[in-house]
Amino acid sequence: MPETTFNPTDRTQENWENSAAAKSLKELQDNPRVKYIVVIAPQDACPACQNLVGTYPKDQVPHLPLESCSHPMGCCAYYLPYLDEIYP
Ligand SMILES: [Zn+2]
Repeated sequence: MPETTFNPTDRTQENWENSAAAKSLKELQDNPRVKYIVVIAPQDACPACQNLVGTYPKDQVPHLPLESCSHPMGCCAYYLPYLDEIYP
């Protein structure tokens, strides 16, 4: 059986950096108007993803999709920007 040796950590990191979630997160992090990153999960998301829902500082945002996600299709948790809308 070929292809049985892989390092899950490395692969996850590689997938993360090439994922749509990583790109959208980076755009949000690069936007100075975005104060925080909000993680949203749909109503039928698994408990792991539900636990992730919340508002995070831009440098402490969890990676999506969640590795411990137990939903067969993935839960489709996603990022939303929390904008700084207070202007002088
Ligand atoms: Zn999930």
